[in-house]
Amino acid sequence: MKVGVPKETAEGERRVGLVPESVGKLVKGGFGVIVESGAGRDYNLDENYEEAGATLVEDAEKLYGEAEIVVKVASPTEDEAGKMREGQVLLCFLNGPQNPELVKSLADAGVTVFSNEAIPRTSVAQAMDALSSMGSIAGYKCALIAADTLGKYVPMLSTAAGTTKAANVMIFGVAVAGLQAIAIMHRLGANVFAYDIRPETKEQAQSLGATFIDSEDEKEDDGEDEFEVYEPEGFRKLMASLGFYSFAEPPRDVYVLEGEEDPSADGQEKDEGWSREKLEEDQKLIRERMKEMDIVITTALVPGRKAPTLVDKDMVESLKPGSVIVDLAAESGGNCELTQPGETLKHNRVTIIGPVNLPSAMPIHASQLLSRNMYNLIGHITEDRSEDKDRKDPHLALDFEDEIIAATCIAHDGKIRHEATREALQEAR
Ligand code: NAD
Repeated sequence: MKVGVPKETAEGERRVGLVPESVGKLVKGGFGVIVESGAGRDYNLDENYEEAGATLVEDAEKLYGEAEIVVKVASPTEDEAGKMREGQVLLCFLNGPQNPELVKSLADAGVTVFSNEAIPRTSVAQAMDALSSMGSIAGYKCALIAADTLGKYVPMLSTAAGTTKAANVMIFGVAVAGLQAIAIMHRLGANVFAYDIRPETKEQAQSLGATFIDSEDEKEDDGEDEFEVYEPEGFRKLMASLGFYSFAEPPRDVYVLEGEEDPSADGQEKDEGWSREKLEEDQKLIRERMKEMDIVITTALVPGRKAPTLVDKDMVESLKPGSVIVDLAAESGGNCELTQPGETLKHNRVTIIGPVNLPSAMPIHASQLLSRNMYNLIGHITEDRSEDKDRKDPHLALDFEDEIIAATCIAHDGKIRHEATREALQEAR
Protein backbone atom coordinates (compact mmCIF):
# COMPACT_ATOMS: atom_id res chain seq x y z
CA MET A 1 0.00 0.00 0.00
CA LYS A 2 1.50 3.33 -1.06
CA VAL A 3 1.11 6.55 0.89
CA GLY A 4 1.83 9.82 -0.93
CA VAL A 5 2.88 13.16 0.57
CA PRO A 6 2.53 16.02 -1.94
CA LYS A 7 3.97 19.51 -1.62
CA GLU A 8 1.37 21.94 -0.26
CA THR A 9 0.34 24.48 -2.87
CA ALA A 10 -2.08 26.71 -0.93
CA GLU A 11 -0.77 30.21 -0.32
CA GLY A 12 0.83 30.56 3.11
CA GLU A 13 0.63 26.84 3.90
CA ARG A 14 3.97 25.88 5.42
CA ARG A 15 3.02 22.56 7.04
CA VAL A 16 3.39 19.10 5.56
CA GLY A 17 1.13 16.05 5.99
CA LEU A 18 3.78 13.56 7.15
CA VAL A 19 7.25 14.25 8.59
CA PRO A 20 10.18 11.81 8.22
CA GLU A 21 9.59 10.39 11.74
CA SER A 22 6.14 9.06 10.74
CA VAL A 23 7.37 8.04 7.29
CA GLY A 24 9.94 5.78 8.99
CA LYS A 25 7.20 4.19 11.11
CA LEU A 26 4.97 3.63 8.09
CA VAL A 27 7.83 2.02 6.17
CA LYS A 28 8.42 -0.31 9.14
CA GLY A 29 4.71 -1.11 9.03
CA GLY A 30 5.01 -2.35 5.45
CA PHE A 31 3.82 0.80 3.63
CA GLY A 32 5.60 2.32 0.68
CA VAL A 33 5.87 6.11 0.99
CA ILE A 34 6.27 8.54 -1.91
CA VAL A 35 7.16 12.15 -1.16
CA GLU A 36 7.12 15.02 -3.63
CA SER A 37 10.53 16.68 -3.59
CA GLY A 38 10.46 19.83 -1.42
CA ALA A 39 7.28 18.79 0.42
CA GLY A 40 8.75 19.46 3.86
CA ARG A 41 10.05 22.91 2.90
CA ASP A 42 13.04 24.03 4.94
CA TYR A 43 12.26 21.86 7.93
CA ASN A 44 11.93 18.29 6.68
CA LEU A 45 14.45 17.89 3.90
CA ASP A 46 14.36 15.51 0.96
CA GLU A 47 17.34 13.62 2.40
CA ASN A 48 15.54 13.18 5.74
CA TYR A 49 12.61 11.59 3.92
CA GLU A 50 14.95 9.34 1.92
CA GLU A 51 16.75 8.26 5.09
CA ALA A 52 13.36 7.37 6.56
CA GLY A 53 12.72 5.08 3.59
CA ALA A 54 10.59 7.25 1.29
CA THR A 55 10.90 7.45 -2.48
CA LEU A 56 11.23 11.00 -3.76
CA VAL A 57 9.36 12.08 -6.90
CA GLU A 58 9.83 15.33 -8.76
CA ASP A 59 6.25 16.07 -9.75
CA ALA A 60 2.81 15.89 -8.19
CA GLU A 61 1.38 14.12 -11.27
CA LYS A 62 3.49 11.05 -10.56
CA LEU A 63 2.69 11.14 -6.86
CA TYR A 64 -1.07 11.30 -7.39
CA GLY A 65 -0.75 8.63 -10.07
CA GLU A 66 0.94 6.12 -7.74
CA ALA A 67 -0.30 6.80 -4.20
CA GLU A 68 -3.24 4.89 -2.78
CA ILE A 69 -3.53 7.12 0.29
CA VAL A 70 -2.70 10.83 -0.14
CA VAL A 71 -1.90 12.78 3.03
CA LYS A 72 -2.29 16.51 2.57
CA VAL A 73 -2.67 19.42 4.95
CA ALA A 74 -4.93 21.88 3.13
CA SER A 75 -7.90 20.86 0.99
CA PRO A 76 -6.88 20.11 -2.61
CA THR A 77 -7.08 22.76 -5.29
CA GLU A 78 -9.26 22.07 -8.33
CA ASP A 79 -6.14 21.03 -10.17
CA GLU A 80 -5.06 18.61 -7.41
CA ALA A 81 -8.57 17.18 -7.08
CA GLY A 82 -8.53 16.60 -10.84
CA LYS A 83 -5.47 14.37 -10.43
CA MET A 84 -7.26 12.05 -7.99
CA ARG A 85 -8.89 8.80 -9.08
CA GLU A 86 -11.42 6.18 -8.06
CA GLY A 87 -10.49 4.15 -4.98
CA GLN A 88 -7.86 6.63 -3.84
CA VAL A 89 -8.03 7.83 -0.23
CA LEU A 90 -7.47 11.46 0.76
CA LEU A 91 -6.68 12.60 4.32
CA CYS A 92 -6.63 16.37 4.88
CA PHE A 93 -8.36 19.38 6.41
CA LEU A 94 -11.40 19.67 4.19
CA ASN A 95 -14.20 21.54 5.86
CA GLY A 96 -17.09 19.88 3.99
CA PRO A 97 -19.84 22.40 4.75
CA GLN A 98 -17.55 25.21 3.58
CA ASN A 99 -16.48 23.37 0.40
CA PRO A 100 -19.46 21.25 -0.64
CA GLU A 101 -18.73 21.48 -4.39
CA LEU A 102 -15.17 20.22 -3.87
CA VAL A 103 -16.41 17.27 -1.81
CA LYS A 104 -18.99 16.54 -4.52
CA SER A 105 -16.35 16.51 -7.26
CA LEU A 106 -14.11 14.19 -5.21
CA ALA A 107 -17.05 11.90 -4.41
CA ASP A 108 -18.03 11.85 -8.11
CA ALA A 109 -14.47 10.81 -8.96
CA GLY A 110 -14.80 7.91 -6.49
CA VAL A 111 -12.27 9.31 -4.00
CA THR A 112 -12.68 8.34 -0.34
CA VAL A 113 -12.26 11.53 1.69
CA PHE A 114 -11.36 11.75 5.39
CA SER A 115 -11.81 15.23 6.82
CA ASN A 116 -9.79 16.24 9.88
CA GLU A 117 -12.56 18.65 10.87
CA ALA A 118 -14.99 15.76 11.22
CA ILE A 119 -12.98 13.71 13.72
CA PRO A 120 -15.09 12.91 16.81
CA ARG A 121 -13.91 14.93 19.85
CA THR A 122 -13.80 11.91 22.12
CA SER A 123 -11.04 10.22 24.09
CA VAL A 124 -10.94 7.20 21.73
CA ALA A 125 -10.20 9.49 18.79
CA GLN A 126 -7.72 11.67 20.68
CA ALA A 127 -4.60 10.24 19.00
CA MET A 128 -6.05 11.20 15.59
CA ASP A 129 -7.51 14.55 16.61
CA ALA A 130 -5.61 16.95 14.38
CA LEU A 131 -8.12 19.69 15.19
CA SER A 132 -7.00 19.64 18.83
CA SER A 133 -3.31 19.56 17.88
CA MET A 134 -3.78 22.63 15.70
CA GLY A 135 -6.13 24.35 18.19
CA SER A 136 -3.47 24.13 20.84
CA ILE A 137 -0.87 25.70 18.53
CA ALA A 138 -3.30 28.45 17.53
CA GLY A 139 -3.98 29.24 21.20
CA TYR A 140 -0.28 29.40 22.01
CA LYS A 141 0.55 31.52 19.02
CA CYS A 142 -2.28 34.03 19.46
CA ALA A 143 -1.24 34.64 23.06
CA LEU A 144 2.30 35.43 21.86
CA ILE A 145 1.03 37.67 19.05
CA ALA A 146 -1.12 39.60 21.53
CA ALA A 147 1.78 40.00 23.97
CA ASP A 148 4.09 41.06 21.15
CA THR A 149 1.64 43.66 19.85
CA LEU A 150 0.79 45.20 23.23
CA GLY A 151 2.90 48.26 23.96
CA LYS A 152 3.23 47.17 27.58
CA TYR A 153 4.82 44.49 29.70
CA VAL A 154 2.48 41.56 30.28
CA PRO A 155 3.83 40.72 33.77
CA MET A 156 4.00 43.05 36.73
CA LEU A 157 7.58 44.29 36.94
CA SER A 158 9.35 46.10 39.71
CA THR A 159 12.10 48.26 38.31
CA ALA A 160 14.31 51.01 39.65
CA ALA A 161 12.00 53.40 37.82
CA GLY A 162 8.93 52.04 39.58
CA THR A 163 6.47 49.20 39.22
CA THR A 164 4.45 48.38 36.10
CA LYS A 165 1.07 46.69 36.44
CA ALA A 166 0.38 43.23 35.05
CA ALA A 167 -1.74 43.25 31.89
CA ASN A 168 -5.40 42.25 32.14
CA VAL A 169 -6.26 39.61 29.57
CA MET A 170 -9.75 38.41 28.68
CA ILE A 171 -10.14 35.10 26.86
CA PHE A 172 -13.46 34.16 25.29
CA GLY A 173 -14.02 30.46 24.56
CA VAL A 174 -12.46 27.92 26.90
CA ALA A 175 -11.85 24.89 24.65
CA VAL A 176 -8.51 23.65 23.29
CA ALA A 177 -7.20 26.96 21.91
CA GLY A 178 -8.66 29.06 24.74
CA LEU A 179 -7.16 26.84 27.44
CA GLN A 180 -3.74 27.05 25.80
CA ALA A 181 -4.02 30.84 25.52
CA ILE A 182 -4.97 31.03 29.23
CA ALA A 183 -1.98 28.86 30.19
CA ILE A 184 0.50 30.93 28.18
CA MET A 185 -0.86 34.28 29.38
CA HIS A 186 -0.80 33.06 32.97
CA ARG A 187 2.81 31.95 32.57
CA LEU A 188 3.68 35.36 31.11
CA GLY A 189 2.35 36.87 34.32
CA ALA A 190 -0.94 38.39 33.12
CA ASN A 191 -4.13 38.71 35.17
CA VAL A 192 -6.19 36.30 33.11
CA PHE A 193 -10.00 36.38 32.89
CA ALA A 194 -12.00 33.85 30.89
CA TYR A 195 -15.54 33.23 29.75
CA ASP A 196 -17.41 30.41 28.02
CA ILE A 197 -21.08 29.47 27.88
CA ARG A 198 -20.38 25.86 28.94
CA PRO A 199 -20.50 25.51 32.75
CA GLU A 200 -17.83 22.78 32.88
CA THR A 201 -15.22 25.18 31.48
CA LYS A 202 -15.26 27.33 34.64
CA GLU A 203 -13.23 24.83 36.63
CA GLN A 204 -10.90 24.14 33.70
CA ALA A 205 -10.13 27.86 33.27
CA GLN A 206 -9.61 28.27 37.02
CA SER A 207 -7.26 25.30 37.17
CA LEU A 208 -4.97 27.15 34.74
CA GLY A 209 -4.97 30.31 36.80
CA ALA A 210 -7.77 32.34 35.17
CA THR A 211 -10.61 34.14 36.91
CA PHE A 212 -13.84 32.98 35.30
CA ILE A 213 -16.33 35.78 34.68
CA ASP A 214 -19.46 34.59 36.44
CA SER A 215 -22.28 36.90 37.48
CA GLU A 216 -23.22 34.48 40.29
CA ASP A 217 -19.84 35.05 41.94
CA GLU A 218 -20.48 38.79 42.01
CA LYS A 219 -23.66 38.43 44.03
CA GLU A 220 -23.24 39.50 47.59
CA ASP A 221 -22.11 36.91 50.06
CA ASP A 222 -24.86 36.16 52.56
CA GLY A 223 -22.23 36.17 55.29
CA GLU A 224 -22.61 32.50 56.17
CA ASP A 225 -19.80 30.09 55.40
CA GLU A 226 -21.03 27.30 53.20
CA PHE A 227 -18.33 24.92 54.36
CA GLU A 228 -16.92 24.22 57.76
CA VAL A 229 -13.16 24.54 57.97
CA TYR A 230 -11.69 21.10 58.50
CA GLU A 231 -9.47 20.85 61.57
CA PRO A 232 -7.36 17.70 61.93
CA GLU A 233 -7.69 15.82 65.19
CA GLY A 234 -5.75 13.17 67.12
CA PHE A 235 -3.09 11.37 65.04
CA ARG A 236 -3.66 13.66 62.05
CA LYS A 237 -3.13 16.73 64.26
CA LEU A 238 0.09 15.24 65.63
CA MET A 239 1.46 14.42 62.18
CA ALA A 240 0.58 17.91 60.93
CA SER A 241 2.41 19.46 63.89
CA LEU A 242 5.50 17.44 62.88
CA GLY A 243 5.28 18.86 59.35
CA PHE A 244 3.67 15.84 57.61
CA TYR A 245 0.82 17.89 56.20
CA SER A 246 -0.50 15.24 53.80
CA PHE A 247 -1.53 13.20 56.86
CA ALA A 248 -3.56 16.17 58.00
CA GLU A 249 -5.82 16.16 54.93
CA PRO A 250 -9.38 15.12 55.65
CA PRO A 251 -10.10 11.41 55.14
CA ARG A 252 -11.89 10.86 51.80
CA ASP A 253 -15.27 10.00 53.38
CA VAL A 254 -15.42 13.43 55.03
CA TYR A 255 -16.13 14.91 51.59
CA VAL A 256 -19.41 12.97 51.25
CA LEU A 257 -21.82 14.06 53.92
CA GLU A 258 -23.89 11.40 55.56
CA GLY A 259 -27.29 10.90 53.94
CA GLU A 260 -26.18 12.71 50.77
CA GLU A 261 -25.46 10.90 47.58
CA ASP A 262 -22.09 11.35 45.96
CA PRO A 263 -23.08 13.12 42.71
CA SER A 264 -20.34 11.36 40.76
CA ALA A 265 -21.24 7.92 42.15
CA ASP A 266 -23.61 6.92 39.34
CA GLY A 267 -20.96 7.89 36.81
CA GLN A 268 -23.42 10.19 35.05
CA GLU A 269 -22.42 13.77 34.66
CA LYS A 270 -25.20 16.30 34.61
CA ASP A 271 -25.27 18.16 31.33
CA GLU A 272 -27.25 21.19 32.36
CA GLY A 273 -26.44 24.49 30.73
CA TRP A 274 -26.78 27.87 32.39
CA SER A 275 -30.14 29.66 32.40
CA ARG A 276 -30.84 32.41 29.90
CA GLU A 277 -31.12 34.90 32.79
CA LYS A 278 -27.67 34.00 34.07
CA LEU A 279 -26.14 34.24 30.60
CA GLU A 280 -27.66 37.72 30.22
CA GLU A 281 -26.25 38.77 33.61
CA ASP A 282 -22.86 37.43 32.50
CA GLN A 283 -23.03 39.54 29.35
CA LYS A 284 -23.64 42.69 31.42
CA LEU A 285 -20.69 41.83 33.63
CA ILE A 286 -18.45 41.17 30.61
CA ARG A 287 -19.29 44.61 29.19
CA GLU A 288 -18.25 46.15 32.51
CA ARG A 289 -15.02 44.16 32.72
CA MET A 290 -13.99 44.84 29.12
CA LYS A 291 -13.08 48.41 30.05
CA GLU A 292 -10.24 47.11 32.22
CA MET A 293 -8.69 44.80 29.61
CA ASP A 294 -5.39 45.28 27.80
CA ILE A 295 -5.70 42.14 25.68
CA VAL A 296 -8.81 40.33 24.44
CA ILE A 297 -8.43 36.93 22.79
CA THR A 298 -11.50 35.34 21.23
CA THR A 299 -11.61 31.63 20.36
CA ALA A 300 -15.32 30.85 20.23
CA LEU A 301 -16.29 28.76 17.25
CA VAL A 302 -19.46 26.87 16.57
CA PRO A 303 -18.64 23.92 14.30
CA GLY A 304 -19.94 24.35 10.74
CA ARG A 305 -21.54 27.74 11.43
CA LYS A 306 -20.58 31.39 11.44
CA ALA A 307 -18.73 32.29 14.66
CA PRO A 308 -20.84 34.13 17.26
CA THR A 309 -20.23 37.85 17.74
CA LEU A 310 -18.94 38.30 21.28
CA VAL A 311 -17.22 41.67 21.00
CA ASP A 312 -19.31 44.36 19.33
CA LYS A 313 -18.26 47.84 18.24
CA ASP A 314 -19.35 49.39 21.55
CA MET A 315 -17.19 46.94 23.46
CA VAL A 316 -14.19 47.72 21.23
CA GLU A 317 -14.76 51.41 21.83
CA SER A 318 -14.89 50.84 25.58
CA LEU A 319 -11.35 49.37 25.60
CA LYS A 320 -8.37 51.43 26.71
CA PRO A 321 -6.19 53.05 24.00
CA GLY A 322 -3.40 50.65 23.05
CA SER A 323 -5.45 47.52 23.81
CA VAL A 324 -5.15 44.53 21.50
CA ILE A 325 -7.78 42.09 20.26
CA VAL A 326 -6.71 38.83 18.62
CA ASP A 327 -9.65 37.08 16.98
CA LEU A 328 -8.95 33.39 16.37
CA ALA A 329 -12.36 32.96 14.77
CA ALA A 330 -11.44 35.43 11.98
CA GLU A 331 -11.74 32.77 9.29
CA SER A 332 -15.26 31.83 10.36
CA GLY A 333 -16.66 35.35 10.37
CA GLY A 334 -14.93 36.56 13.55
CA ASN A 335 -15.98 36.85 17.20
CA CYS A 336 -15.34 40.59 17.04
CA GLU A 337 -17.70 42.64 14.91
CA LEU A 338 -14.84 44.64 13.37
CA THR A 339 -12.41 41.79 12.54
CA GLN A 340 -11.17 41.45 8.97
CA PRO A 341 -9.70 37.99 8.26
CA GLY A 342 -5.98 38.11 7.57
CA GLU A 343 -5.72 41.78 8.53
CA THR A 344 -4.54 43.94 11.38
CA LEU A 345 -6.53 47.12 11.75
CA LYS A 346 -6.98 49.93 14.22
CA HIS A 347 -10.27 51.18 15.57
CA ASN A 348 -10.23 53.98 18.13
CA ARG A 349 -6.60 53.23 19.03
CA VAL A 350 -7.39 49.54 19.59
CA THR A 351 -5.53 47.04 17.41
CA ILE A 352 -7.70 44.23 16.04
CA ILE A 353 -5.84 41.25 14.59
CA GLY A 354 -7.65 38.59 12.52
CA PRO A 355 -5.04 35.89 11.93
CA VAL A 356 -5.70 33.10 9.45
CA ASN A 357 -4.09 29.67 9.55
CA LEU A 358 -2.06 30.31 12.70
CA PRO A 359 -0.80 26.70 12.99
CA SER A 360 1.07 27.26 9.72
CA ALA A 361 3.00 30.05 11.46
CA MET A 362 4.62 27.34 13.61
CA PRO A 363 5.19 24.76 10.88
CA ILE A 364 7.76 22.53 12.56
CA HIS A 365 5.72 21.44 15.55
CA ALA A 366 2.43 21.80 13.67
CA SER A 367 3.66 19.33 11.03
CA GLN A 368 5.11 16.99 13.65
CA LEU A 369 1.86 16.78 15.62
CA LEU A 370 -0.33 16.62 12.53
CA SER A 371 1.90 13.90 11.12
CA ARG A 372 1.50 11.78 14.28
CA ASN A 373 -2.28 12.25 14.06
CA MET A 374 -2.22 11.19 10.38
CA TYR A 375 -0.02 8.19 11.15
CA ASN A 376 -2.54 7.06 13.77
CA LEU A 377 -5.44 7.62 11.38
CA ILE A 378 -3.72 5.58 8.67
CA GLY A 379 -3.24 2.80 11.24
CA HIS A 380 -6.95 3.01 12.07
CA ILE A 381 -8.19 2.67 8.48
CA THR A 382 -5.84 -0.14 7.44
CA GLU A 383 -5.04 -3.63 8.65
CA ASP A 384 -2.11 -5.98 8.21
CA ARG A 385 -3.16 -9.02 6.17
CA SER A 386 0.22 -10.68 5.95
CA GLU A 387 0.36 -14.36 6.84
CA ASP A 388 4.11 -14.21 7.14
CA LYS A 389 5.06 -12.89 10.60
CA ASP A 390 8.28 -11.36 9.28
CA ARG A 391 6.49 -9.32 6.64
CA LYS A 392 3.75 -6.72 6.85
CA ASP A 393 1.07 -6.29 4.21
CA PRO A 394 -1.25 -3.38 5.03
CA HIS A 395 -4.61 -3.05 3.28
CA LEU A 396 -7.41 -0.53 3.48
CA ALA A 397 -10.06 -1.75 5.95
CA LEU A 398 -13.01 0.60 6.25
CA ASP A 399 -15.50 -0.49 8.88
CA PHE A 400 -18.31 2.06 8.79
CA GLU A 401 -19.66 0.69 12.07
CA ASP A 402 -16.55 2.18 13.67
CA GLU A 403 -17.38 5.55 15.29
CA ILE A 404 -14.20 7.28 14.08
CA ILE A 405 -14.39 6.06 10.48
CA ALA A 406 -18.14 6.73 10.28
CA ALA A 407 -17.71 10.34 11.41
CA THR A 408 -14.45 11.28 9.69
CA CYS A 409 -15.05 9.73 6.26
CA ILE A 410 -17.12 12.38 4.48
CA ALA A 411 -17.15 10.81 0.99
CA HIS A 412 -16.95 7.20 -0.15
CA ASP A 413 -18.15 5.05 -3.00
CA GLY A 414 -19.37 8.01 -5.05
CA LYS A 415 -21.49 9.40 -2.21
CA ILE A 416 -21.19 12.28 0.23
CA ARG A 417 -21.57 10.65 3.67
CA HIS A 418 -21.52 13.85 5.71
CA GLU A 419 -24.95 15.31 6.34
CA ALA A 420 -23.85 18.91 6.97
CA THR A 421 -21.91 18.84 3.66
CA ARG A 422 -24.95 17.46 1.80
CA GLU A 423 -27.12 20.22 3.27
CA ALA A 424 -24.55 22.88 2.32
CA LEU A 425 -24.49 21.48 -1.22
CA GLN A 426 -28.27 21.70 -1.49
CA GLU A 427 -28.24 25.27 -0.22
CA ALA A 428 -25.49 26.23 -2.67
CA ARG A 429 -27.48 24.92 -5.67
P1 NAD B 1 -14.22 25.23 19.40
O1 NAD B 1 -13.12 25.98 18.78
O2 NAD B 1 -15.21 24.54 18.54
O3 NAD B 1 -15.07 26.17 20.39
C1 NAD B 1 -14.45 27.05 21.31
C2 NAD B 1 -15.25 27.31 22.55
O4 NAD B 1 -16.10 28.42 22.31
C3 NAD B 1 -16.16 26.20 23.06
O5 NAD B 1 -15.76 25.88 24.37
C4 NAD B 1 -17.55 26.86 23.07
O6 NAD B 1 -18.35 26.48 24.18
C5 NAD B 1 -17.19 28.32 23.16
N1 NAD B 1 -18.27 29.22 22.77
C6 NAD B 1 -19.17 29.07 21.78
N2 NAD B 1 -20.02 30.11 21.77
C7 NAD B 1 -19.63 30.94 22.78
C8 NAD B 1 -20.10 32.19 23.28
N3 NAD B 1 -21.17 32.79 22.74
N4 NAD B 1 -19.44 32.75 24.32
C9 NAD B 1 -18.37 32.16 24.89
N5 NAD B 1 -17.88 30.98 24.45
C10 NAD B 1 -18.50 30.38 23.42
O7 NAD B 1 -13.57 24.26 20.43
P2 NAD B 1 -12.63 23.03 20.20
O8 NAD B 1 -11.36 23.28 20.85
O9 NAD B 1 -12.62 22.66 18.78
O10 NAD B 1 -13.45 21.95 21.05
C11 NAD B 1 -14.81 21.65 20.72
C12 NAD B 1 -15.40 20.74 21.77
O11 NAD B 1 -14.76 19.47 21.75
C13 NAD B 1 -15.23 21.26 23.18
O12 NAD B 1 -16.40 20.91 23.87
C14 NAD B 1 -14.07 20.49 23.70
O13 NAD B 1 -14.05 20.37 25.11
C15 NAD B 1 -14.28 19.16 23.03
N6 NAD B 1 -13.04 18.39 22.86
C16 NAD B 1 -12.98 17.12 23.37
C17 NAD B 1 -11.81 16.37 23.19
C18 NAD B 1 -11.72 14.97 23.74
O14 NAD B 1 -12.59 14.53 24.43
N7 NAD B 1 -10.70 14.27 23.41
C19 NAD B 1 -10.74 16.90 22.49
C20 NAD B 1 -10.84 18.21 21.98
C21 NAD B 1 -12.02 18.93 22.16
